[in-house]
Amino acid sequence: TLILGIESSCDETAAAVVKNGREVLSNVISSQIDLHTIYGGVVPEIASRKHIEKINQVIELALEKAGVTLDDIDAVAVTYGPGLVGALLVGVSAAKAIAYAKKLPLIGVHHIEGHVSANYIEHPDLEPPFMCEIISGGHTHLVIVRDYGEFEILGRTRDDAAGEAFDKVARAIGLGYPGGPKIDKAAREGNPEAVDFPKPKVLDTGKTSLTFARGSHEMSNYDFSFSGVKSAVLNYLNKCEMTHEKWDVADVAASFQKVVVDSLVETAMRGVKDHNVKKFAIAGGVASNTALRAAMEKACAENGLDFYCPSPVYCTDNAAMIAVAGYYEFKKGNRSGWDLNAVPNLKLGER
Ligand code: ATP
Ligand code: MG
Ligand code: FE
Repeated sequence: TLILGIESSCDETAAAVVKNGREVLSNVISSQIDLHTIYGGVVPEIASRKHIEKINQVIELALEKAGVTLDDIDAVAVTYGPGLVGALLVGVSAAKAIAYAKKLPLIGVHHIEGHVSANYIEHPDLEPPFMCEIISGGHTHLVIVRDYGEFEILGRTRDDAAGEAFDKVARAIGLGYPGGPKIDKAAREGNPEAVDFPKPKVLDTGKTSLTFARGSHEMSNYDFSFSGVKSAVLNYLNKCEMTHEKWDVADVAASFQKVVVDSLVETAMRGVKDHNVKKFAIAGGVASNTALRAAMEKACAENGLDFYCPSPVYCTDNAAMIAVAGYYEFKKGNRSGWDLNAVPNLKLGER
């Protein structure tokens, strides 16, 4: 079974061809990073326009690199949310046009389900159930993957997502956009003990998973919080400025990164123990962070867990992960109608 995957939720225009949900035949990513760097972040209108310019080329290249034509494709999978509405619409429209013209099944994929599914690409042995920590630009979730595309959400961030905190701190210390990779690199030259930023404390709420009852503001024992450490960095920089104290980019980057990584590892390992799982995976753009990968690998080894993480190229946004998630939805018989629309604030577990 060959799935054509399409992804355009943010600032990457991407297409991929994946065989049987596990074998990547092509994975084409056209990043707009250079375009947005001068603005210090993604400008939605510019992103949409660039997606329109690139989408056909990217899809054609993905087919060419896979050595196939549309006649060989069995279904078209596309990210329909969450993300920027104008950006999502470009991918959704392209996928609909192809599926309609070639009489192929259309499968709308949840972007975060895609991130989790990236783990299947290089780990043929990995099957649900397992625990996954999703750490991306807009999400920080601890979940149990019960089955393909089925998630029990144990906890999530109460404020900033981890990637968002990386990006904001990077901007404050002058590293610019995109912040995560720049902090990762700078931190390698810094001392993680140089500045003592406070570790997030999440109070015991007695809840070990979230039910998302309507109108409730549930909090769980596995919630995350990153805005405190972000503010602590900003306060530290202000204090240094006022007292004419020198601060070091690498030291601040390393000290900030350590707090975030420690918190991600600690919460995950608490979840693992309480829920008695044996397999643990990470996913999302921040999962490409070198310090985080090393710390997670170590913690998993100490706790006797099998550890899974995608290669960096499959951590950040790509279409191979969308094709993989699409394959398992296809196998379950899930199809989208021609009325498939972009859903910018789609929640995990929603359709
Ligand atoms: P979401 O997937 O939640 O909708 P997104 O698609 O914008 O958000 P991703 O592409 O999954 O997010 O990840 C991008 C985020 O990952 C950015 O915040 C970026 O700074 C962060 N990131 C990327 N590489 C690294 C790294 N090496 N270290 C830390 N953070 C990183
Ligand atoms: Mg991106
Ligand atoms: Fe993403």
